[in-house]
Amino acid sequence: MDKIQLHDKTFRPFIENEKIERAIDGVAARLNADFKGCSDIPVLLCVLNGSILFTAELMKRLDFPLELMSMKLSSYQGTQTTGQVLEVMGLTGNVEGRRVIVCEDIVDTGNTIVSLQHMLEQKGATEVRICTLLLKPEVYDKPVKLDYVGMEIPNAFIVGFGLDYDDLGRNYKDIYVLDK
Ligand code: 5GP
Repeated sequence: MDKIQLHDKTFRPFIENEKIERAIDGVAARLNADFKGCSDIPVLLCVLNGSILFTAELMKRLDFPLELMSMKLSSYQGTQTTGQVLEVMGLTGNVEGRRVIVCEDIVDTGNTIVSLQHMLEQKGATEVRICTLLLKPEVYDKPVKLDYVGMEIPNAFIVGFGLDYDDLGRNYKDIYVLDK
């Protein structure tokens, strides 16, 4: 794997696709075990844009009935979080009376999932479970329980597998880290 250039920054290879896929296998196995035989139809919520690849890969592995919904949030500018979570596109369906499995690409400070959980409860979701491909445990400082975590990573800025730097880099199948 080679380094990649996005806008003014260089990123070096960090996590290979094979390892990402194995982490998703693990998350899917845990979800399948927890939701096997459930009598309701849970909502799988893709948080756009970053979670597109994760949600697609995860969905293929889930074997209980589910309904896909999406919404778009934004909190990052360049390589920094602004601390303010903006709803750029509202929910594509009604979550009232439903269990919701939130599919996040990465949990950093946790501001996004705290806002999301609050918003989903306001809209009448009966239960909100958080599922994230990646977690930065050194930064995460919120009381919200992370039910399914694919992989923990150090506090660094990454791109690829859905994650971007100013809209570029989402299409790479591997994950790259900012080259200092
Ligand atoms: P939080 O609200 O937990 O601080 O940040 C969550 C959101 O910020 C993620 O859904 C993602 O969009 C973005 N984010 C956090 N860390 C990174 C990172 O290392 N790289 C990229 N590209 N986005 C990140």
